[in-house]
Amino acid sequence: MAIEKKAISDMKKYIYLFDEYDEVMAALDQNWDGVRGLLGGKGANLLDATRLGIPVPPGFTVTTVGCNDYLAAGEQFPAHLWDQALEAVARLEGTTGKKFGSVENPLLVSCRSGARFSMPGMMDTILNIGLNDEIAAKLATRTHRPRFAYDLYRRLVQMFGGVVMGVPDEVFEAVITAQRRESNARNDAELDASAWKAVTLRFKEIIRTYTGKEFPTDPYEQLRQATEAVFRSWNGKRAIDYREAAGIDHDLGTAVNIQTMVFGNVGDDSATGVFMSRNATTGEPVLEGDYLINAQGEDVVAGTRTTLPILQLKTDMPQMYDQLEKIARRLEQHHRNMQDMEFTIEQGKLWLLQTRDGKRTAQAEVRIAVDMVDEGLISREEAVIRVKPDQVDFFLHPQLDPDALKDIQPIANGLNVSPGAAVGVIAFDPDLAQRWAKEEGKSVILVRPETRPDDVHGMLAAKGVVTSKGGRTSHAALVARQFGKPAVVGVEAIEIDLDNHLMRIGENLVIEEGEYLSIDGNNGLIYYADLPTVVPDINNPSLLKILSWADEFRKLGVRANADYPDDARRAREYGAQGIGLCRTEHMFFQEDRLPIVQRMIMATTPTERAEAISALLPMQRSDFEGLFRAMEGQPVIIRLLDPPLHEFLPSAHDLMLELTDLKLRMQHFSSLKEMDQALEEIRSKSEILQRVEALQESNPMLGTRGVRLGMLIPGLYKMQVRAIFEAASRCAAEGLDVRPEVMIPLVSHVGELDIMVGPLKEIAREVMDDHGVDIAYLIGTMIEIPRAALTAGEVARTAEFFSFGTNDLTQTTYGISRDDAETGFLVHYLQTRLLRDNPFTSIDPGGVGRLMQIAIKEGKMTRPDLEIGVCGEHGGDPKSIRLCHQIGVDYVSCSPFRVPIARLAAAHAALSVD
Ligand code: ADP
Ligand code: MG
Ligand code: MG
Repeated sequence: MAIEKKAISDMKKYIYLFDEYDEVMAALDQNWDGVRGLLGGKGANLLDATRLGIPVPPGFTVTTVGCNDYLAAGEQFPAHLWDQALEAVARLEGTTGKKFGSVENPLLVSCRSGARFSMPGMMDTILNIGLNDEIAAKLATRTHRPRFAYDLYRRLVQMFGGVVMGVPDEVFEAVITAQRRESNARNDAELDASAWKAVTLRFKEIIRTYTGKEFPTDPYEQLRQATEAVFRSWNGKRAIDYREAAGIDHDLGTAVNIQTMVFGNVGDDSATGVFMSRNATTGEPVLEGDYLINAQGEDVVAGTRTTLPILQLKTDMPQMYDQLEKIARRLEQHHRNMQDMEFTIEQGKLWLLQTRDGKRTAQAEVRIAVDMVDEGLISREEAVIRVKPDQVDFFLHPQLDPDALKDIQPIANGLNVSPGAAVGVIAFDPDLAQRWAKEEGKSVILVRPETRPDDVHGMLAAKGVVTSKGGRTSHAALVARQFGKPAVVGVEAIEIDLDNHLMRIGENLVIEEGEYLSIDGNNGLIYYADLPTVVPDINNPSLLKILSWADEFRKLGVRANADYPDDARRAREYGAQGIGLCRTEHMFFQEDRLPIVQRMIMATTPTERAEAISALLPMQRSDFEGLFRAMEGQPVIIRLLDPPLHEFLPSAHDLMLELTDLKLRMQHFSSLKEMDQALEEIRSKSEILQRVEALQESNPMLGTRGVRLGMLIPGLYKMQVRAIFEAASRCAAEGLDVRPEVMIPLVSHVGELDIMVGPLKEIAREVMDDHGVDIAYLIGTMIEIPRAALTAGEVARTAEFFSFGTNDLTQTTYGISRDDAETGFLVHYLQTRLLRDNPFTSIDPGGVGRLMQIAIKEGKMTRPDLEIGVCGEHGGDPKSIRLCHQIGVDYVSCSPFRVPIARLAAAHAALSVD
């Protein structure tokens, strides 16, 4: 990079004409990326289109090096730059047969900024440079189109006065509005030549009083000032802010494009417009765009006149339409991507003014990628690379119905921080949001100035979240993403009045609490309406194709975390290759089972406990059977019970309250029977309380969980293993291919495994023998305590597979409580950028990732065929997936909804794309 920059700055050729493709390429060693750096995106693409023989109005580009040298010299043109510019203008004169500054046959040009990356905040385009009073007057008479000439002239003065001289455009617009009233004109089109002439005169007066300077009448002076203004705008505040936010280098500089004007406003045989080579919403291979007859430049996007759909041009000017199609196809073939283009038709001649890769929706991206493979434009690898894992999200969340969007304008926009659409009634208060959602079953959108940790319950209850302040790493953004809630933050146009339960947008719009809002987390738009949504369609044919190609390229397996047969079936539909984690505690928490679980915990004799445990067995067996059937032919990892025991018991606090209440009520009982019942109840509740208190730990997260629990109640894990193998044996007896993998959680010392595994294997053997089947299975462990990772060589002597529980591993490595991660100081660390990523979202490569690497290396040294997976939340995160690919993980496991994303991300990792 450094060498390349130096090479560029050594060249003192500051200007390239659009037809000097070979010269530029030679100067940059045929490096197209270098050309884009030197000429900016707009200039490079115009150069390229010219070479392809597409009609581009002649012009030239002043390079980014020119800009940098100008700025470095304290806003002075470097030696020769201006000479070269004059020479280039002379060349344009030669090509066009017109003369810059001539009264008889004037050459007019536009001055357009164009950096490497398109960038808001850079100077706007100035059209029609080269006019003054005299030239305009002559143009009016010579062409017999006085209105045309004076309209051009006033545009020049207006744009120049605005962007070069800094007069606010509102002032100019006010003049035009006043003139319309005076001339009794309904719109600009009805203003005639003399009206524009008057307007222009006033514009110049305004410039004089605002700036103390004259509008320059010398065309060369206009050109010079415009070029300098573009250069200077590189260091304007808006541009700098944008680069800061977007992470763009400040030393790239901008190029300036000077281009012969073509006129779409000469009459009804002229037009100007914008179009895409394919539909940017659906990806359909048809031109999409808008145009205006008899118009110039930005009239189309300005929205002051109603534009016509590009398809209309097919009827209005069939030949022109035909040419547009040809140009679109040619440019697509060349760029191998969908193009976004600007064109002008001047008296029946078509000109291309700009082309670049078009922005599109996720749906269009996927469709276009697949179509382009079919058309032979790109390879399958490239198609897979083009679709970003995040874009797959689009197919997994509800979206606003595109048909409904046609008739409605958004009322505001903000940052699109969490994808998907949400529709609901506004609540300004998290408690209210929770009440409406929970008690009244309403869909709620929580709207807040910003959110804080104590708003989280409201966010969770809401369908979507909006804040008027805050950025991409604000608390609201982080929490919303974490929980998959669609969210739009930093909607500056919204002014929230919490006291009066309403919000204001602009001068006139007041929206009250309880009214409907629809938000689109994909693009940050907000609608004042109760819009219909469309359910996600993961079965979009193009997406399925992309995913199946991704499967061909990826090395990592993708499994799902699923606890119920329904989850497992969905996971399979989404492409999961097995279950990486079934959390059996979810089965224990079911209502009909809880009393039995409690009985097991409360048991005072071994017999009592054994009875309770056996009561659970048939239930577990049928759970597992369902899973095995749903995942036939694929591995199913079942994790033995993990949570701390006290979680199954009522809280000590509640028990104490109940006991006090019972004791108080004793004095009011009249019958002895009632008294006896109450005494009995007090006895049993006190017993439970005692047990709860005995099980209470000051740090339950670091307490009797996982295998530690299994060590205390050995019958529990034995029962689970029996249930697993009874279920598996039943399926196997029917001829089904079952592949159970038994996972022991929270191991920190190989001794724990050594004690557990022998007896469990015996049970498995016994059950299989009883059923007369022989099933291949694995017994392995989670690696979620640093000690287990560091002693992996020993652990692998007993464990046949590892699965990294990255949530706990992050918690124990970082020493950050995962339960407080969304609310605590971690948010502060992220906001201040001390941390780039939330370690609970993306695996921390330096700490957790390094432990994983050690565990994989040492584990495989002991047991070369050790199977290695990841089953934490990270399993669905593209960045973490990349890391997993790099360090030799065999598969990742994530929630069923993330499976398609993981498949694509794994392919990207294998194709090594950032
Ligand atoms: P932006 O980056 O905002 O699109 P552009 O430089 O592309 O700015 O120009 C703004 C408008 O002016 C566009 O509609 C463009 O097509 C038009 N335009 C620019 N240069 C010329 C020209 N030489 N002749 C005719 N129209 C032009
Ligand atoms: Mg613009
Ligand atoms: Mg443009």
